[in-house]
Amino acid sequence: HAKNNERGTIQFYQTNLPVQMDSILEVESALRKAIEQEEFILHYQPQIETKTGRIHGAEALIRWESPTRGLVPPNVFIPLAEETGLIIPIGEWVIEEVARTIRSMKKQGLELPISINLSIRQFYQRDLVERIEMILTRYDIDPSLITIEITESMAMDAAKALVILKELKALGVKLAIDDFGTGYSSLNYLKQFPIDYLKIDQSFIFDILDDRAITDSIILLGHRLNMSLVAEGVETKAHVELLREMNCDILQGYYFSKPISKEALIDFLTSFDQTEH
Ligand code: C2E
Ligand code: MG
Ligand code: MG
Ligand code: MG
Repeated sequence: HAKNNERGTIQFYQTNLPVQMDSILEVESALRKAIEQEEFILHYQPQIETKTGRIHGAEALIRWESPTRGLVPPNVFIPLAEETGLIIPIGEWVIEEVARTIRSMKKQGLELPISINLSIRQFYQRDLVERIEMILTRYDIDPSLITIEITESMAMDAAKALVILKELKALGVKLAIDDFGTGYSSLNYLKQFPIDYLKIDQSFIFDILDDRAITDSIILLGHRLNMSLVAEGVETKAHVELLREMNCDILQGYYFSKPISKEALIDFLTSFDQTEH
């Protein structure tokens, strides 16, 4: 995808870049090494059901703990991983690590749906669906416990995206559109996509106390299309109260929890008091 590659390149050379990372070759070899040495880790951010206050699930968010660069956030290295093609093995590691987490929680009597972010190159990878299916089978994971998140701009080639989304849906996983409202998706296609969740971009939630028009409209649209609405970037009690009044189904943000380690997630699951919210 030319446009996206271009964007990745600009980010790589001009912004967001730790100073040490000065050539694409260097980054490529550092990322390769990171895969081999298992320097990636997943954090999980809980998602709360607005009506009941129960935990709905969690989103897996990758971090790179580089021994030389420190903690590198995904907004920095994911574009580079896309650029170099290393997103394919990294993305596969993410899916497998989520499967391991679900399996280990199951052994502790816990069952929690987990969302996985895909990037564009991964989404259009030829054997994506087979690869996901293979991992879920190997770890004996119920596919309905997995939600695949893609962004609107990944679905710009709507006809092509529709085929993949239908295959994923047939596998039994759930589907979400991430950062909704910031891309360029055609509403006409959105209607045909078998999407379960619309995630309202956090920029709209940050504004919500001053201006709720966009969020109100997205919620109405999503519900009309039989989707559940997820608010991202829920930071305050006022956000929670307003979003409850607005009938947003699921809430995610620092108000409830930052993304946390697998161990901390399990503590959160066993200690979270739904009556407080
Ligand atoms: P995203 O999927 O939209 O994830 C939400 C981002 O918002 C996360 O940033 C999360 O830490 C942050 N966030 C959550 N709640 C709040 C809040 O209340 N306030 C604020 N200010 N921020 C909040 P993070 O973890 O840095 O991830 C950034 C992006 O990197 C993600 O955006 C996603 O697009 C990408 N990403 C993360 N993990 C993966 C992955 O495993 N694979 C791929 N392909 N992309 C990933
Ligand atoms: Mg996401
Ligand atoms: Mg998002
Ligand atoms: Mg985002």
